[in-house]
Amino acid sequence: MTRIPTTLTDEQIPKELGSALAGLYSGEARLPSRVGGRVAGLAALQAYNPKDYAARNHLLAPISRLSMYLRHGMLSPRELADHLRARARGTDREEGLRQLAWREFFWLVLKQRGRAVLENLEEPKYRVSWSPELPSDVREAQTGLPCADAWITHLKDDGYMHNHERMWFAAYLVHWRRVNWKAGYEFFREHLLDGDLASNALSWQWVASTFSGKPYIMNQANIEKYSAGRWCEGCTADCPFMGSYEQLQEKLFGWRA
Ligand SMILES: Cc1cc2nc3c(=O)[nH]c(=O)nc-3n(C[C@H](O)[C@H](O)[C@H](O)COP(=O)(O)OP(=O)(O)OC[C@H]3O[C@@H](n4cnc5c(N)ncnc54)[C@H](O)[C@@H]3O)c2cc1C
Repeated sequence: MTRIPTTLTDEQIPKELGSALAGLYSGEARLPSRVGGRVAGLAALQAYNPKDYAARNHLLAPISRLSMYLRHGMLSPRELADHLRARARGTDREEGLRQLAWREFFWLVLKQRGRAVLENLEEPKYRVSWSPELPSDVREAQTGLPCADAWITHLKDDGYMHNHERMWFAAYLVHWRRVNWKAGYEFFREHLLDGDLASNALSWQWVASTFSGKPYIMNQANIEKYSAGRWCEGCTADCPFMGSYEQLQEKLFGWRA
């Protein structure tokens, strides 16, 4: 095994690690957009003000961005829960603890079901044949849809995506592009700094309807509302998300809710 010196400067790290880990990743080796470690994690936790967290579905809402520290054990879920109890009130506190509970729930499912979470836990709730490969236009953020290309660029450039962007992207890939959720799971695993077997696989399955009662979808109005219109205003693409939920369900799944 290659020994990596402990005295490397930030500039040297990508080069050294890049060659030590060659073959295990694709693309350019570079430092992540955020600093890792316990000290940085604690500082980020202390700086986090959860006021208005209940509006978390909006891309501009004050989400914590602490997931990568939680994922790598630099912060514990209990520390974040204590912080929310001390610093948040009312629905902000409830919503914060509820989201954290999703993380714990997914871990419990992983503990109970083991690697079975990497296969469909249930049959999809609509008749579908998903292709196994991630399309190259998706991988390269060249779908021609400004919103989808931005979500993919966030993932690849920052190693992070807002939860709502993850849900939109997952629905786009699985339901509009008819790609197996496993390809999306792998794509996320490749790029997310918080990439976590349980939350990643089970969230994809929740969107795909192999771990939920129905497939998750959004429409153009939902994307516009929760992104403050940042991609929709002036968009000239032939928008596949246009329509009511009923119209989209009929188009995508052949049924109305
Ligand atoms: C398709 C898909 C894949 C996902 N993959 C991952 C993954 O690999 N790793 C991961 O940590 N999360 C994953 N999530 C859940 C969620 O998107 C992220 O935890 C959240 O966006 C992290 O940002 P944050 O730290 O600002 O979260 P905040 O909203 O500030 O929440 C605080 C913490 O609670 C937990 N949390 C919040 N929302 C969720 C949720 N919906 N499910 C599970 N835990 C949650 C996270 O640990 C998060 O750091 C995925 C969601 C989807 C839809």
